[in-house]
Formats: sequence, structure tokens, C-alpha cells
Amino acid sequence: THFGARTVREDEKAGMVRSLFSDVANKYDIMNDVMSMGIHRIWKEAMMDWLAPRPGQKLLDVAGGTGDVSFKFLARAGSGHATVLDLTEGMLVEGRKRAEATSLADSLTWVSGDAMALPFEDNSFDVYTISFGIRNVTRPQEALNEAYRVLRPGGRLMVLEFSQLPNPAMQKAYDLYSFNVIPRMGQIIANDYDSYQYLVESIRNFPDQETFLGMVRAAGFANAKYRNLTMGVAALHSGWKI
Ligand code: SAM
Repeated sequence: THFGARTVREDEKAGMVRSLFSDVANKYDIMNDVMSMGIHRIWKEAMMDWLAPRPGQKLLDVAGGTGDVSFKFLARAGSGHATVLDLTEGMLVEGRKRAEATSLADSLTWVSGDAMALPFEDNSFDVYTISFGIRNVTRPQEALNEAYRVLRPGGRLMVLEFSQLPNPAMQKAYDLYSFNVIPRMGQIIANDYDSYQYLVESIRNFPDQETFLGMVRAAGFANAKYRNLTMGVAALHSGWKI
């Protein structure tokens, strides 16, 4: 049946995503810097600028991986707590190691779980972030619905994800670069062509800014807006639970 076929593909995606990030966990941070030429750091700072963390806030950082966003959030807030949730145990292990080398270890909780079925009660967090994660989630709308559920009224959603370039000529140039260069770089640097091919395809297949904005609104978020980063190579989406 149509439903059966779709289910198989979805199962395959979740398994593939998990094995991808299990394999790269111990070199994830360095690969991130190399492949993005450090730009992901600038984007995460832009995320923090818009989010403006405040002392005492409780953050849930979904698909938080090795905790990049949570570390930045806690540093800016000055005090508070961050829960990092990820599907891949190996990423959390790397993150915990990072935390133990800092004074922030006590302000962090590491939880394995799925963005589409969060193991938390309703109205539990002040802020929900997901950075370069929702693209990998099998059904992104379900992740957004869950974000809405676990945020308290007055809570804030912030999504950082690759996006589409509004300028068609630029998008074309970017496609040529990404489909031709990125998988080959992945082959050379990480000896892994297929994962970087997946990376590029998942970016191209993810909804554009306006479509994703509609999904944020459909989850119930108010005052939903987005900002492009680097001409739309990435975008931030923000929304409020009121
Ligand atoms: N947020 C980190 C960052 O910005 O550097 C890590 C991003 S990493 C590219 C994507 C992460 O999403 C991986 O650690 C992967 O395990 C996680 N992930 C994928 N699907 C997920 C899901 N359904 N629920 C939770 N985490 C998921």
C-alpha cells in the first residue's frame, strides 16, 4: 500500500540518520568547522542575538548533539539550565565530555530521545531550540507540535536550519557548488561520500523559509517570523507560545 511504502522509507531515514551521527560523533565538532569554514559559529551567535537568553531560563535544546547551542545559551544567560536531547547516544557522550571540561556541567542534562515524542510534560520549558536538527527529523511538523506542547505559555521557539536562497541565480550557483563539491570534500576529509551526499540532498529537500514559517504557525506559534542568514543559506525561525 501507499501507506506501507511511506512507512518503510521513514523507518529507513531514522535509522540512517542515527547511524550517520553515531559514526561521526567523535569528529562532529571538527568536521562542522571544516565543512562550514567556521560559519556555523557565526550563525549560532546570530541565533543567540535574536534569542537574547535571560538569567534563570530553562532551555530544551532538541537534536542538541554535542551541545553547542546549550553552551552558548548558558554562557549568555549567566544562569539557568539546559536540557540537551538527541536521538544519538554518541553525540551526547561527546557533549558530556565537553561539559565536564567546563564549569557548566551542573547546568546541563543530557537525554536521549526523539524530537517527535519528547519525554517531558506539557509547559516545562521557557525556550526550545533546534539547530541543524529538524531537517533530519522524519516528520518535522510533529517535532514543531511537540515543541509547542512542552513550552510554557510565554515560551519561545527558535529554529536554526539550512534554507533556500531567494535569488534563483544564487540558488543555482549554490546547488552546483553543493552537489559537486561537498560530497567530494566529504570523501577526501572524512572518507565518506554518501553522508555528505545525504547532507546536500536533505538541505535541498527541506521546505523554504515561507513554507516552514507556515509549519511553525500550524503548530500554534504566534508572532512567527524568520531571518535569513548568509543570503538564505541558513535561516532562523522564531515563534511564541502565548
Ligand atoms: N544541534 C547541534 C548543532 O547545531 O551543532 C547538532 C546538529 S547535528 C547536524 C543533527 C543532530 O540531530 C544529530 O545529533 C542527530 O542525532 C539529531 N537528530 C536527528 N533526528 C533526530 C530526532 N528525530 N530527534 C532528536 N534528535 C535527532
